[in-house]
Amino acid sequence: MKKKESHHSALSVSNGIEQPSSVNEAAVARLKHQKRKPLSSKQFLEGILSGNRIVLSQAITLIESSLPQHQEKAQKIIEKCLPYSGNSTRIGITGVPGVGKSSFIETFGLHLTSLGHKLAVLAIDPSSERSKGSILGDKTRMEELSTQPNAFIRPSPSAGSLGGVARKTRETIILCETAGFDTIIIETVGVGQSETAVHSMVDFFLLLMLAGAGDELQGIKRGIMEMADAIAITKADYGNIQKANRAKAEYTNALHLFPPSPSGWIPKVLTCSAHKNEGIKEIRETINEYENFIRKNGFFSTQRSEQAKYWLFDTLNRNLQDHFYLNPEVKKHLLKYQENVLDNKISPFVAARKLLNKYFKE
Ligand code: GDP
Repeated sequence: MKKKESHHSALSVSNGIEQPSSVNEAAVARLKHQKRKPLSSKQFLEGILSGNRIVLSQAITLIESSLPQHQEKAQKIIEKCLPYSGNSTRIGITGVPGVGKSSFIETFGLHLTSLGHKLAVLAIDPSSERSKGSILGDKTRMEELSTQPNAFIRPSPSAGSLGGVARKTRETIILCETAGFDTIIIETVGVGQSETAVHSMVDFFLLLMLAGAGDELQGIKRGIMEMADAIAITKADYGNIQKANRAKAEYTNALHLFPPSPSGWIPKVLTCSAHKNEGIKEIRETINEYENFIRKNGFFSTQRSEQAKYWLFDTLNRNLQDHFYLNPEVKKHLLKYQENVLDNKISPFVAARKLLNKYFKE
């Protein structure tokens, strides 16, 4: 290149020395590459198997995403994880807000991790969708447990129907088991149907109850009590011990009136205090006793098979339903048929048949 003539002016700039770039080009290229290329499902499996929490969390985020490409990837990861799953004790914990669920899980979880267990805590919170505010997630929960290297706490997936949220949690269990967690706690608020969903994915169902809180059943439906493998009366401490013992006797009597559970196990009623760390060990021992009992009598595998069947049909039903309602012909005519039904112009059965005919293009 022809050298520029230098004008000896105050404005002329002398050529500087070329500086080396302060950016590590190789690192930039690597980062760009990483950004563009998401982990393959095989890499996800390897990461999860090695107990890498970041990879585990990313995979759970894919499960929770509603984007079709994320769902597709999530399903591939789950498929890869399935052979490594199933080796945990799955415990469902429910109770009304304020009963002491998070305090209990904190103390119980610390007890488990002190024994060398690896614990994952998942949640199904039906409130998070409806009220946009979560009963389980809006406060600082399980502060100490969350700092334990052997504990993994994941809040409830918030998007979708209860069925959808439950399915995501069920799939998350598979990933957590693959990551080596030997105990999985599924927490839910005892206010509605979510207990049934939790019951369909756990081995042991623990119901937390308050002593002497007025209404004997505290709005807990009889059906939920029937599902319980144990009831723990919480806050059995300070001036509350007598009341807790009385409640224990009452619930023990009440449970006798229920039909025998299909597992053959007689549900136990215990008292505990999360604040004073009392009765916690006994609850763990009860869960162990129960697990030994149902493994011996075969109910453990029967229940897991029943649950697998439940999720098979749940998934089939959901997919078929989605497929139906997303069908353009159905979408086009559904509203009109609905109006006609409401105007008594056509019966709901005929309307349904006609829509199905459109779907099946008969
Ligand atoms: P959750 O809404 O069911 O998760 O209940 P929390 O764990 O947040 O507890 C609700 C309230 O009960 C809080 O004020 C806790 O401090 C209190 N609490 C929880 N466990 C105990 C306990 O073992 N003893 C006493 N005295 N209070 C407790």
